[in-house]
Amino acid sequence: MKTGVVTDKRFLDHDMGAYHVESPHRIEVLNRMLEEDPPVPYFAIEPRPATEEEVGWVHEKGYIDLVRSTAGKTVPLDMDTIAGPKTFATALLAAGGFLRSLDRIMDGTVRNAFSLVRPPGHHAEASQALGFCFFNNVAIGAEHLIRKHGLQRVLVVDWDLHHGNGTEHAFYARRDVMYFSTHQVPLYPGTGAARDFGAGEGLGFNLNVPLLAGKSDADYLHIFERILAPVAAQFKPEFILLSAGFDIAAGDPLGGMAVTPAGFGLLTASLMAMAERTAAGRLALVLEGGYDLRALRDGVREVLKTLAKRDSPPAGGSPGALRVELEEPLRTFRRKWDIPAA
Ligand SMILES: [Zn+2]
Repeated sequence: MKTGVVTDKRFLDHDMGAYHVESPHRIEVLNRMLEEDPPVPYFAIEPRPATEEEVGWVHEKGYIDLVRSTAGKTVPLDMDTIAGPKTFATALLAAGGFLRSLDRIMDGTVRNAFSLVRPPGHHAEASQALGFCFFNNVAIGAEHLIRKHGLQRVLVVDWDLHHGNGTEHAFYARRDVMYFSTHQVPLYPGTGAARDFGAGEGLGFNLNVPLLAGKSDADYLHIFERILAPVAAQFKPEFILLSAGFDIAAGDPLGGMAVTPAGFGLLTASLMAMAERTAAGRLALVLEGGYDLRALRDGVREVLKTLAKRDSPPAGGSPGALRVELEEPLRTFRRKWDIPAA
């Protein structure tokens, strides 16, 4: 069974200006790689616009109306988040494209999928555009799996450089969608403390791992294999979604992390192994950040290569320097989950 890829030239239509890092060039380099030198054979998934009902699972009607009203115009919605003439249409296509990839996984057409879409989504709040994001693609996807496919447990992993405040808020008091985020601190948007562990019946289902700059492949793999994997084995997700940000890549202009293309492959293999254990391998990635075009292209390439094969789970290292930083997250997570000492 092939890997699905959501790809479309229309994701270039959203444009926040010549000097904005979240530029159409990001999708242009990925589309060119797929056309000229595809890393693996893949099943192309054509996106469709999300409906207002689908977007409304996560966003308030007044906010959707506001974004719709920007069609054909240029309207700044936030300091660095500017709606252009085609932003509303492109944002609907990004969310809908991701939903279609979930349907193709659920109906068995593809084993896993990567949605190479923009604008990104994980900062978008119920009623606010933030941090280059308009509609929260990954949150709408989790709702889709629960409402339309009847799933009861969905795990959203977010390895983007930034904390996905919008995704955290969407599911903070719920136990059917677990949110697990690694993110650099101190950094935009300032949310994502380890003590923010969920609320009400969702207490224990929101897991934040704030990290100082400089983390390597081995550091991230350690967190995935020694912290996320045991928690996932207990939560037993029926589907794993990934907010795939490539701004943790070495060389990214916004970040200070040092993940290599090979590292992105190892992290993907780690998630595939988790998905294999409880979710019949169901894993869907959606593009978030990543602003160094070469690192973005090389990272996506390695992820696609990994998705197309069936890897044995990678062994996580135990990098010593990371231990102190992980003390607070581990103390918090162990209130709910059994995480063996590494
Ligand atoms: Zn980011």
